[in-house]
Amino acid sequence: MLAVGVVRDKPGVHAFDVPEPRIERPDEVLVRIKEVGIDGTDFNMLRYGIQDIAEGRDVMVMGHEMAGIVEAVGNEVRTVAPGDPVTMTVRRGCGQCQPCLHNQSDMCMTGLYTERGIHRLDGFLTRFAVEQEQYVIKVPPHLVHLAVLTEPLSIVEKGIELIRIIQSRFPWNCPHPEHAFDSQDWGECKTALVVGAGPLGLLATALFRLADVYTFAADIVPEDSNKARLVQSIGAVYLDASVKTQQALMERCCQVGNLDIIFEASGAAATALELINYMARSSIYVMTGIPRGDLRIQIDAAQILRRIVRQNQVVVGSVNSNRRHFEMALRDMDRIAARFSGMPQDMFSHRFRLEDYERAFTTRHPEDIKTVIEVET
Ligand SMILES: [Zn+2]
Ligand SMILES: [Zn+2]
Repeated sequence: MLAVGVVRDKPGVHAFDVPEPRIERPDEVLVRIKEVGIDGTDFNMLRYGIQDIAEGRDVMVMGHEMAGIVEAVGNEVRTVAPGDPVTMTVRRGCGQCQPCLHNQSDMCMTGLYTERGIHRLDGFLTRFAVEQEQYVIKVPPHLVHLAVLTEPLSIVEKGIELIRIIQSRFPWNCPHPEHAFDSQDWGECKTALVVGAGPLGLLATALFRLADVYTFAADIVPEDSNKARLVQSIGAVYLDASVKTQQALMERCCQVGNLDIIFEASGAAATALELINYMARSSIYVMTGIPRGDLRIQIDAAQILRRIVRQNQVVVGSVNSNRRHFEMALRDMDRIAARFSGMPQDMFSHRFRLEDYERAFTTRHPEDIKTVIEVET
């Protein structure tokens, strides 16, 4: 069957033939792939020539954000059945460390994990995939058209969960106990800055707004762009970082009070680093963007470290997600769609057929949000 991905020692994206997978174990599920989302990780694999192909193989199928339909199941599978819409997680555990052995391969301690479409395992840019039931998640039928966004939303769910877990270290930062980070209504009386209004940034903005966090989202596209319009449609304030200095942007954010949360989703290394200087007392900064290439700049490192210590600041990285975050994402997808018109479906900026894979991977503009490849039309 036709597949699209990377070929060893051959730059760019290519089409090749792979054998059709079959169910071989009783806990496996055969999925017919409908849609695959392309994100920064995929574009960067091509741009920076990153090829994490398994030893002994010469190709790796790309694509890790997927939506599909169950075609067949092994005789021990209970949670999904043929015809069910599903999505799948990305990382497969090392099978050795305690987090991996307890369904938290996103926190793997050995680094010996694999990832579908990214690191050693074939992804989903092809017709069929076989996977163990534990990595296959049923999608409610009314969310089928949004299922391909479950993976990016799960990344954001994990980042915001981390913020809430870490910040439950103090009782609350406003006069209302009900706004403590471990409360249901945790978001009120809080301000967040989301850096980058791509898919992760927009979904983070939506989750913050669902919790009623006063949210700014910054990107380098004009105020009349689709990204800015979506930010505003979810009740957040858009900041065009291409026309304002970082200091002016941060002064704008701090006008409404302490900046309690920074959510970095751009992967722009210099910006990500400099923003540490603007963290408020006892605030938290979660980084999800992965910078590529080299960055050598001069910074006052002593001042940054001094402030982190003296002001109880936390800078935390967050990568990948597990089944639980996918389930949270599917629950919140419903709430996002119900509360914000145009979200999240207006994030889809391009759709291509699998045969048009070259155009899908080469059509990219800063104003684009989510490219989807329709494997089965
Ligand atoms: Zn592990
Ligand atoms: Zn409050």
